[in-house]
Amino acid sequence: MTKSSSNEFDYISENIKRIREDIALCCAKAGRDENEVRLMAVTKTVEAEKINIALSEGIDLIGENKVQELLSKLPLLEPKTVEKHLIGHLQTNKVRQILGRADMIESVDSIRLASEISLEAKKRNITADILLEVNIGKEEAKSGFFPEDFIENIHMISEMSNIRVHGLMAIPPICAENDEIRGYFYKMRKLFIDIQSKKIDNVDMHVLSLGMSGDYKEAILEGSTLIRVGSSIFGERNYK
Ligand SMILES: *Cc1c(COP(=O)(O)O)cnc(C)c1O
Repeated sequence: MTKSSSNEFDYISENIKRIREDIALCCAKAGRDENEVRLMAVTKTVEAEKINIALSEGIDLIGENKVQELLSKLPLLEPKTVEKHLIGHLQTNKVRQILGRADMIESVDSIRLASEISLEAKKRNITADILLEVNIGKEEAKSGFFPEDFIENIHMISEMSNIRVHGLMAIPPICAENDEIRGYFYKMRKLFIDIQSKKIDNVDMHVLSLGMSGDYKEAILEGSTLIRVGSSIFGERNYK
């Protein structure tokens, strides 16, 4: 590598450093231990060369939205053992392709999808690690369980075999006001704690996946344990 090409992606390293500082600051402000918050690099539309820069900075978790995109990048990643989560809507007919390749499916948004994952995991004699996506703003255009039926749904899912629920994920509505977004994160945190206290079989509530580039600070202040950051690390996405 020439000197200039090794500097071309320095912004990625700098962005990661800045976000880690933000994590530490927000945790200090909230009286939390900074090790409670994990930083995921969201790598959709980002080429493997840039992802590998992030991995060389110690990023140990990436998120992709699409099954095909995740699978095609896997052989190019260094180290290949980096933890990978699927965070985009998953069609039931793609469960077979992603199971065993992603370490966690964060975007389980229906009973039908959960039951397909359970069936496929059972066939292979593995346990599928999942988060449940909550449509916290009850938006028509978004998928996810509504908060009011959530307890009933999580009980149904907990009875499915070969599935383990590790926590919750949400993408709140776009909010103009800081207080408004914090309100949604607060509701998620309440739901998370409520379910933790119920001690449901096959449910081990320890991951609260909240916060993206525009709102990860608010999410950490409200209790997020996993922030999913894309454009603040890699720059604006270029959808071709
Ligand atoms: C794209 C995406 C992100 C990251 O978004 P940024 O605003 O670029 O940080 C996080 N979570 C999900 C589910 C996404 O689809």
